[in-house]
Amino acid sequence: MARDTGLKRVTRLAPSPTGALHLGNARTFLINWALARREGWKVVLRIEDFDTPRVKAETVRGVPETLSWLGMDWDEGPVIQSAEIGAHEGAMERLRAAGVVYPCELSRTQIEAAASASAPQEGDHETRFGPELRPAGFEVGRAWAGWSRERNWRFATEPGRVEFVDAFAGARAPEPARTIGDFLVWTKRGVPAYQLAVVVDDHRQGVTDVVRGDDLVDSAARQLLLYRALGWEDEPRYWHLPLVVGEDGRRLAKRHGDTRLDAYRARGVPAEAVIGLCAHWCGVIPQRGVLSAREFLDGLRVDRIAKEPITFTAEDDAWLMSAAR
Ligand code: GLU
Repeated sequence: MARDTGLKRVTRLAPSPTGALHLGNARTFLINWALARREGWKVVLRIEDFDTPRVKAETVRGVPETLSWLGMDWDEGPVIQSAEIGAHEGAMERLRAAGVVYPCELSRTQIEAAASASAPQEGDHETRFGPELRPAGFEVGRAWAGWSRERNWRFATEPGRVEFVDAFAGARAPEPARTIGDFLVWTKRGVPAYQLAVVVDDHRQGVTDVVRGDDLVDSAARQLLLYRALGWEDEPRYWHLPLVVGEDGRRLAKRHGDTRLDAYRARGVPAEAVIGLCAHWCGVIPQRGVLSAREFLDGLRVDRIAKEPITFTAEDDAWLMSAAR
């Protein structure tokens, strides 16, 4: 694969076009973009649409437009993830030949029933898929004969910790075999599952720095296992940032009101107020204020970004609305 052999680092903004971007996404993307521009990294904009078969063309167009409104720019893209699937199929072939993936016919209900029959899981929302659920005849290291893109395929997670140092969150050593088990890499809709799609795309786009919300920190372990199984040595550096939550402590969502950037924009809130709120959330300014993306970039200090989740309050919403023109 042709790769940039220079030292230039590469990051990506990787929105999913499902829901429109909200204030929490704005904060993560602004940090990602500002870090990149300050450090001279290349920025790729990638629209992650594999999970969203019914995505509308205008949503795909709308996401870059919203990011531009916030003053962000990029050097490559928007790349539409689903436009080119050959590399993902190639990766599946390597995994199959290595004997680390197998087709899985079990339904979600069957998997949940099997999981609840074994020990209950602590604090984990995903259903663990244990090795006892692997099909008869599958053995790690022996290639499963025959590839079909119309089946679900899982990666066989072997016991052990996956150690990595997160550039923001510090040293991590999750044990995915214990918490997650075997995970989906390909879906019977004929497209790669999220974990494989991200690894293949990051690898082929030369991504060196992945900056995203810490709801994906558990996924990093799965993604590193895939890098290793594929024999790819360009594992990225991860920066997992705390999320924005509502006053109830739950991740920002519809229940907290309409925090979509497009909704604020439609009500006349200027981008600079959204950036200013994010800047306050990142320790750039002591109080909410009105700031350009450039000023955000100049003021951002990674060591001043809080390690805890940020709470979006009714006062934040009222303040944004008071800035409407
Ligand atoms: N597309 C994913 C999202 O919007 C991000 C995936 C990633 O950064 O790895 O949540």
